[in-house]
Amino acid sequence: MKAVVFQKPNDVRVETVDDPELEQLDDIIRKVTSTAICGSDLHIHNGFIPKIKPMVIGHEFVGVVVEVGAGVKEFRPGDRVVVPFPIACGGYFFCNHDLPDHCENSNENCGPEGGLAKEKGGALFGYTDLYGGYSGGQSEYVRVPYANFSPRKVPDRFTDEQVLFLTDIFPTGFSGVEWAGVKGGETVAVFGCGPVGLMAQRYAWVRGAGKVIGLDREPYRLKMARRSAGSEVINVKETDAVEAIRSMTDGHSADVCIDAVGMEVDRSLLQKAANITHAEAGSISVMRNAFSAVRRGGTVSILGVDGMPDDNFPIGQIFDKGLTLRCGQAPVHCYIDELMTWLDQETIVLDDIITQRLPLADAPQSYEMFNNKEDGCVKVVLNRDGDDSQSHSTR
Ligand code: NAD
Ligand code: ZN
Repeated sequence: MKAVVFQKPNDVRVETVDDPELEQLDDIIRKVTSTAICGSDLHIHNGFIPKIKPMVIGHEFVGVVVEVGAGVKEFRPGDRVVVPFPIACGGYFFCNHDLPDHCENSNENCGPEGGLAKEKGGALFGYTDLYGGYSGGQSEYVRVPYANFSPRKVPDRFTDEQVLFLTDIFPTGFSGVEWAGVKGGETVAVFGCGPVGLMAQRYAWVRGAGKVIGLDREPYRLKMARRSAGSEVINVKETDAVEAIRSMTDGHSADVCIDAVGMEVDRSLLQKAANITHAEAGSISVMRNAFSAVRRGGTVSILGVDGMPDDNFPIGQIFDKGLTLRCGQAPVHCYIDELMTWLDQETIVLDDIITQRLPLADAPQSYEMFNNKEDGCVKVVLNRDGDDSQSHSTR
């Protein structure tokens, strides 16, 4: 089959690799009909998440079941399914405590013994050996483990694109707002107007936020935040983010700040030098702004991925302000069923952030475009070559 293979930083290729096979009784093999590139894939692409061996990447995908293991109860060949990006077994402590992203069964690197690798969470599709080493779904076929727990059937009335973002970015944006316990009337400031930040902004309104502020350094993304999420926006390249948030809230500061940027922010030469001497990658400068721009007693939700330790972490400020911090991979399994019903009720629309639809063969150029923020790119969907994703729905 054809698949997107990460070779080394800045080198992603479409190659012919072995077809996946059933390995466990509860596996399914799925033909992938639509897949997307996530900001998290960029961290691998740009060398911020260590990856030594080439691997098939991608963790947002929709497709059709083609083979089922003997132990699979609910699915048959021909069923269309969508699968959360964390790989979770559904059977032990963490899955039973609404923490499927910490499944102790899916990732042999997960566990309490300590050490960098051992403290990783459960497995993720296509996300390096640290997260289980499972092949991802930017490919023609993918093996989906734990098929009695993870996949959800997609009703015929939905197109691939309508449900694709239930795999990751919508439940992720949703988590950032849920974790902050938004009840109504709050000011929610979201750093980052990429796909995850946009989803957080949209959901903040659904939860009744009184004001939603989107921050980014790319004018076209700010434009999308204003247009498609109805947010007030701040260009962090032109304005001091913390001062701007304070003045937009009459000095009160935001009740909730969400970091939807992660470790790949612009770094000064000094920061880069510090990274080298401290064996760190990236920067927590957005997080620092969030700690400053949130009010006392407020919540900062960290959705952006951070992979390394950071010295001088501002614990004194967090303590003085009495902040609540929430972070981590989104527990998609906990939310996906409810969110699917929201699509039916048209409480949310997710596919209108797609700016490019390209064949899987164009993955290398698509990575460059998304990474470099070219051609107005916000979200790229890769379709199986020669297929039209919309044909997978009766709608
Ligand atoms: P993205 O790269 O498209 O979005 C990041 C945005 O941040 C970009 O628009 C960029 O211009 C902006 N940005 C950069 N520096 C900034 C700054 N200093 N201030 C404000 N904005 C700045 O990626 P995405 O797909 O939206 O993902 C965002 C983050 O969320 C990534 O780190 C990704 O790995 C992470 N993520 C986490 C989860 C989870 O479960 N926690 C799931 C999906 C993605
Ligand atoms: Zn992702």
